[in-house]
Amino acid sequence: MDKDIPLEQAPPSYNDTQPVHPNLNQTQPLIMVQPQPMLTLPNVLGNFPSTATCPSCGVRSKTNVEIEPNTKTHLIALLICALGGICCCCIPYMTDSCQSANHTCSSCGEYVGTYKN
Ligand SMILES: [Zn+2]
Repeated sequence: MDKDIPLEQAPPSYNDTQPVHPNLNQTQPLIMVQPQPMLTLPNVLGNFPSTATCPSCGVRSKTNVEIEPNTKTHLIALLICALGGICCCCIPYMTDSCQSANHTCSSCGEYVGTYKN
C-alpha cells in the first residue's frame, strides 16, 4: 500500500542531514572589481623638477633634475665659438635651455627621463 505514495510526497529525511545555507552565499558581497584605469599620467618633464611617475618604485613625486650638456650644447658652443670667439663658447654650458635635464626619482633615485631642449 505504501508504494503507491508518490516520491514527491515522501519526507526528504536525508536532505536534513545536509543543511543548506542559502544565506552563506548571500553574505559574501559581490565584489564587482571595476577595472579602474591606472592613472598613468604622462611624465611631462622640463628644465625644472617635474611631477613624474617613477618607473621603478611607482611613486609619483617631484623629480630631481640634473642639468648636463648634450650634443646640442656642444654644437651651439662650437657655433658661438666660430661666430663670436672662444670667450663666448661657454654660454650654452651656462644656459639650462641649451642642455638636457636628467630627471631622477626623488624617492629611490632611479632615472625617470630626460628633457631635451
Ligand atoms: Zn622611484
